[in-house]
Amino acid sequence: MDNQLWESKYHEAVDRLTREENQWRTAESLLRQLVGCLGRAAHGAHDQVDPHIERVATALHGPVDAMLLEPLVHGLSEALDHLGDHPQATLEERSVALVRAPRSEHGSSVQSALSRLVDRIVVLPKLADRASDLRHDVADAGDLVALAVCGDRLADLVNEQRIGLQREIEALQAVLRHVTGRLDEMSQYMSRELADQNTGEANGQALDASVAHEMRLLGEAALELEDIHELRERVGDSLETIAECFREFRDREGGRLTAYRERAEKMRQRIEQLETERNALQRSLEREHELAQTDTMIGMPNRLAYEKRIEVAFNAWQTAGRPLCVAAIDIDHFKSINDTYGHTAGDAVLRIIGQALVKHVRPCDFVARYGGEEFIVLFDGADENEALQVCERLRGKIQHLAFHASRQPVRVTASIGLAQFQAGDTPQTVFDRADLALYTAKNGGRNRCVIG
Ligand code: GH3
Ligand code: MG
Ligand code: MG
Repeated sequence: MDNQLWESKYHEAVDRLTREENQWRTAESLLRQLVGCLGRAAHGAHDQVDPHIERVATALHGPVDAMLLEPLVHGLSEALDHLGDHPQATLEERSVALVRAPRSEHGSSVQSALSRLVDRIVVLPKLADRASDLRHDVADAGDLVALAVCGDRLADLVNEQRIGLQREIEALQAVLRHVTGRLDEMSQYMSRELADQNTGEANGQALDASVAHEMRLLGEAALELEDIHELRERVGDSLETIAECFREFRDREGGRLTAYRERAEKMRQRIEQLETERNALQRSLEREHELAQTDTMIGMPNRLAYEKRIEVAFNAWQTAGRPLCVAAIDIDHFKSINDTYGHTAGDAVLRIIGQALVKHVRPCDFVARYGGEEFIVLFDGADENEALQVCERLRGKIQHLAFHASRQPVRVTASIGLAQFQAGDTPQTVFDRADLALYTAKNGGRNRCVIG
């Protein structure tokens, strides 16, 4: 039976979730830093707010205690709400600037940091809609107050993600305990059966011994007794005794067999039940796995799927040495598409581009949404020249997608950075080279492919 395979699969899943939880810890720490940045940016803007900012910043230095943090954040929100109630002549200008100048140096750097953070996180499928709404709201945030609210929501999201992962880990551990319990039960059953088999053997040996004993007595009697009648009587007695031994043996064995059949039937039912549970678990695990690796907005592989795929391709490249390339694709001036036509239109553009990429890569290539308006393609078995040809084709396809606004065509383009694995490379170094090449493509005027 493949129980061991299952046990190792569950262990793998628990490990994976633990790794993901660690990634979330990192995200939480980044978020804390970000809240610190926001605090510093907003500090000094208004006397009433400053003490609240300081308290929240201090509370975030140590391990986060939600019970402690909540009243502080609440206090800060209230202080921000009351900003307009008590205008101070000297501070009014600064507070208006705070509210009305969203793209101040501090504001825009916080906004882009927050936006990058939201783009980087790969949330559980059930939180995907909230992450997408948050991404939009960060982009639309008009001032630091709105950004602070987004920061707060991101913290909630990160927290929920961690709780969700923790729950998944606990559920898997419960399954593991359950399966282990069943396995123990089966091994106990096997040792009982072994003991029972030994009893059976002992019963057989006892029968053999009794029959042999009786035969020996009979042999001796045959030598001693001279009267044929006496001898016949003695033979009759011995045969009766032997028959009694057989009856006893049959009764004992019969009881043992009935008990054995009952136990075997119970065990068969248990195994059947375990098999059903195992199949249901297999299906749900596969579904979860697929969901975790799918970008729900576009319905294509996400960054997690890419990371798994590149790991496999990298190992194959190390052993077989077939060429392997990575392309980073970034939509040009996507922010202005959002700003001009709105986020819903921006989402639709992303969906159409994602689907076009999936449609136009070769069957042997792998494309994923890396995050935000960035996609990534893995060319397994292609060198940089072959991969470049495909990239040029993809770039052309994007450029010729027919987007319209008020019946006017809207041209959307993408820049692409490409890198091939060379001796000593890792997935990260190749990605970095592709990213750098992408940067060069952007600086070179966009809508182009560059090899890194
Ligand atoms: P560049 O040519 O330099 O790449 O400019 P850009 O405007 O495309 O780049 P930037 O990184 O400044 O902005 C990317 C924008 O993409 C900002 C972010 O709000 C938007 N974005 C990221 N993910 C989504 C999404 O899922 N939907 C929408 N509508 N917009 C998104
Ligand atoms: Mg980008
Ligand atoms: Mg872009």
